[in-house]
Amino acid sequence: MLTVDFHTHSIASVHGLNTIEELLRQADRNGLAGLAITDHSPGIDNTVWLSHNRTGDFCWEENIKGPDVPYFMNLLSRYEPPADIRVRLFRGIECNIYSDSDRPTDVPVFISDRFDVVIASVHPIPPLFVVENSLQMTERMIRAMDDPIDIIGHPFHKRYSPLMEPLMDAAVEKNIVLEVNNSSLQLGKADKLQARQMLEMAAQKKCRIALSSDAHMANELGGDEEINLILDQIEFPEELIVNRSEASALDFITQRKKVRAEIKARLQKGN
Ligand SMILES: [Zn+2]
Ligand SMILES: [Zn+2]
Repeated sequence: MLTVDFHTHSIASVHGLNTIEELLRQADRNGLAGLAITDHSPGIDNTVWLSHNRTGDFCWEENIKGPDVPYFMNLLSRYEPPADIRVRLFRGIECNIYSDSDRPTDVPVFISDRFDVVIASVHPIPPLFVVENSLQMTERMIRAMDDPIDIIGHPFHKRYSPLMEPLMDAAVEKNIVLEVNNSSLQLGKADKLQARQMLEMAAQKKCRIALSSDAHMANELGGDEEINLILDQIEFPEELIVNRSEASALDFITQRKKVRAEIKARLQKGN
């Protein structure tokens, strides 16, 4: 079980199944020290996509609609967990990396310095992100690192694959964290061997890593079984894991809030 889970979704993400309070209570039961609620940013229309797969059967695409900005404003400034909740709530967002837009991501810039955690992820659903090739993927993901974000969510996926070494070099240079996502491994969306290669390269290049469940329901909170199966096979330096403890998570958040405030000021000045 993770000590601090940096990536989870509530019912506000539309395809999440539990309320924030239900998630906090389950995190308490699981003994987590910290829990980040990182609902999807507004993204595109509230559409559940139906498409054909290769054999011609209908399959469900991910529904990536997130809550509107007022939800995040309330989460940031008005929401307080019930007094008997012990787990520390981190207020976050998972924003989308765009493939073709003037902006690298859809993080709401005006509140970007107030989040505890900002994840930026590729969700390969047109028109949000049209995957062309690995080079384009890599460029778009590196470009997103200049936005007020902290973590690249599920950086590798069976439906897209950025170039590992340039992506990691950029992450180290720009002080951005790469995520190992338990749900992606569990649901077969990410390749286990590739995740292991990413961790081996991260250990070598001293790239910081976040471990997350990407829970979309309470029973998935703090889940790290698939990640641990990989970590058990290699020697990975614990100090590179930003959410290894409550103290390291708090340090990381404090640093990143300052960096995001600087980036926000620069972006607003440019406008
Ligand atoms: Zn995601
Ligand atoms: Zn997610």
